[in-house]
Amino acid sequence: MSETLITRLDASQSDFKQRLDELLAWESVSDTRVASVVDDILHQVKTRGDAAVLEFTNKFDRRSAKSMDELVVTADQLKNALTQITPEQRKALEVAAERIRSYHKHQLQTSWKYTEADGTVLGQQISAMERVGLYVPGGKASYPSSVLMNAVPAKVAGVDELTMVVPAPDGELSPMVLAAAAIAGVDRVITIGGAQAVAALAYGTETIAKVDKIVGPGNIYVATAKRAVFGQVAIDMIAGPSEILVICDGLTDPDWIAMDLFSQAEHDEQAQAILLCPDAEYLDKVEASIARLLPTLSRNEIATTSLKNRGALIKVADIEEAVEVSNRIAPEHLELSVADPELLLPKIRHAGAIFMGRFTPEALGDYCAGPNHVLPTSGTARFSSPLGVYDFQKRSSIIMCSAAGASELSKVASVLARSEYLEAHARSAEYRIKD
Ligand code: NAD
Repeated sequence: MSETLITRLDASQSDFKQRLDELLAWESVSDTRVASVVDDILHQVKTRGDAAVLEFTNKFDRRSAKSMDELVVTADQLKNALTQITPEQRKALEVAAERIRSYHKHQLQTSWKYTEADGTVLGQQISAMERVGLYVPGGKASYPSSVLMNAVPAKVAGVDELTMVVPAPDGELSPMVLAAAAIAGVDRVITIGGAQAVAALAYGTETIAKVDKIVGPGNIYVATAKRAVFGQVAIDMIAGPSEILVICDGLTDPDWIAMDLFSQAEHDEQAQAILLCPDAEYLDKVEASIARLLPTLSRNEIATTSLKNRGALIKVADIEEAVEVSNRIAPEHLELSVADPELLLPKIRHAGAIFMGRFTPEALGDYCAGPNHVLPTSGTARFSSPLGVYDFQKRSSIIMCSAAGASELSKVASVLARSEYLEAHARSAEYRIKD
């Protein structure tokens, strides 16, 4: 068996913590050349609008559009996309969209208020963002699932105008991506990509309205541009490489676990797949499954590099220790491939999504279970959560004082304002104090 196929670790080794840290280490690429290219693109789009977007799109996506109109997908084209995919594909998109929609409806926040004894009313009003931009990568592959996972929660939240940007290199566009947009209720699709698309959404141009938030993954140009426009607009996150962590009791078919690990490893060379199990012989079996099944994957080169560089099979003392290690890693995806996952669930503190039991592979969550597949990566599950409806809703505080309430509160406010030497604040409150 190849020594280098995947790292083997034992949590009882004295250097385990250090070796685990080395395995987890991942630096988000900050490339000064890319940053300066992106800065220039942002500046050009900000100052020259559509003309710059058109130039960059023609250059980077090998298009020959004369005007922005040629880059806008018409409502008819969007509808037509539904006829360009197979009935089976359409059905799969519709089923997935419906499941994602019904799951996300549970996340809708509602406004609330309460009345105090003196008649003062306090509360919180929820409103949806008006305009959101969705970036869908289109350079090297197409991601219809990404369209559904970003667009459906935005529409459930009540976003008025959802503009999707997707590059169409050489004018080629995936009908599945367009069909997903149609099914998810995207309002407008423009075939632009890269930093120029992010800039157009962030600053607005003659044909593209400035949005309030930009969501969706993309390559280093897209990520760098999103980071740069953050503040002008909100962004969802800057995602790192995908990760899966499996806790297994040693009783799941080893082939299933190997394939679950591959399902992340095949994403890219930096993706991470880790298995924790108390049974060393079972880890041998999974390693054998990996060796046998890896060559059968169409993306076996990517998966092989990912497993070799960042994968690990880790022997732990028991399931309790597996949970401890998992909480330290705070994985994006966590599979609990054990007989009674409910027992472990309360002990899981940090994970983007938790897949419970042997029949819940992460792949189902990626496409159609219902919960969102946009999840915190690189340990950020310690402080952040999956993308959801709440990311497209905002809260406004509501305060309505009665005359009696204002009088009492103004006495408090006056003292605090004067201690901060803010006289107008104090006097504004004092006007409302009843004698
Ligand atoms: P993309 O749409 O992100 O990028 C294509 C655009 O990059 C082009 O339109 C062009 O404008 C720009 N570009 C390319 N070369 C450039 C250059 N030299 N100078 C300036 N701009 C340039 O598509 P992609 O490249 O296929 O990347 C997709 C990315 O999205 C991958 O990294 C993939 O891993 C990631 N992704 C992540 C998730 C997730 O959930 N985290 C999901 C899907 C895709």
